[in-house]
Amino acid sequence: MDTLAGLLPGGYVDNCGEVQREIELRPLTGREEELLATSRPRESASLVTVLLSRCIQRLGAIRPVSEALVRNLLVADRQYLLLKLREATFGEQIRANVFCPWPECGQRVTINFSVKDIPIRESEDKGPVYMMTLSPEIAGVFGADERQITFRLPNGEDQESISPLLAENEALALARLFGRCIQRIGRLTNIDEEAVISQLSPAARLEIEQQMERIAPKVELTMDINCHECGRVFVAPFDLHRFFFGEMRTSGDLLYREVHYLAYHYHWSEREILEMTRDKRRRYIDVLADEIERLNNAV
Ligand SMILES: [Zn+2]
Repeated sequence: MDTLAGLLPGGYVDNCGEVQREIELRPLTGREEELLATSRPRESASLVTVLLSRCIQRLGAIRPVSEALVRNLLVADRQYLLLKLREATFGEQIRANVFCPWPECGQRVTINFSVKDIPIRESEDKGPVYMMTLSPEIAGVFGADERQITFRLPNGEDQESISPLLAENEALALARLFGRCIQRIGRLTNIDEEAVISQLSPAARLEIEQQMERIAPKVELTMDINCHECGRVFVAPFDLHRFFFGEMRTSGDLLYREVHYLAYHYHWSEREILEMTRDKRRRYIDVLADEIERLNNAV
């Protein structure tokens, strides 16, 4: 099975304080497709964790890569890995549909791009902990000590934890995220979402959010798109999770029919067939179809 290598834009700081960035991953097999077919799309952050931990063969010197470790990876590193997983499974070329946002147009625009065209920004400071001082006019307190914030960057575990709340109450979800990522506000430690709400004004939270964005690694998932219908240019976010899961989700029915077909003709076990990649499974199905046609023509 072909594996792909890559370099995380952020990296994982291991127990010895070393930053591990080299990765190697394998394509999805029928096993992961089965998992995708039977899970609910709302759990996408935890699903990403499971898929990545199964498919990442190595992170630096670390192998196997556990789900707990994948949860600890930064948001941009997980996005990068998802793109790599897509590349390993289906190749680098992506074709997706978006709709022109101008009300009088609203046409569907098909975009074609390569995974390699997506700009990736590496983080300079690998942390994992960062400090900043809130500007005095925003903090409302004057001593520099009181204005100092210590934080880490959001990771997969944070995403999993806030994702159920995100659809219901975005402001509260953000406060919870900050409660998890901020480690110190002035002299205050043991930060939770209540402390964030009571100690930090919305302007102070915005200042922290902007600082996090500045220092975090980034996978640029918005793109300029040219509408061929009305000629306007618009900016569209590329919804990576939605695209990935939409594309990867073979219907459970089809998957089991393919397994049945191969088991019937080749007498392989279910386990053996599910451990193949989709590409390999379909190649055998094509070979069988040719063979059956040849036999039919010979009769
Ligand atoms: Zn248009």
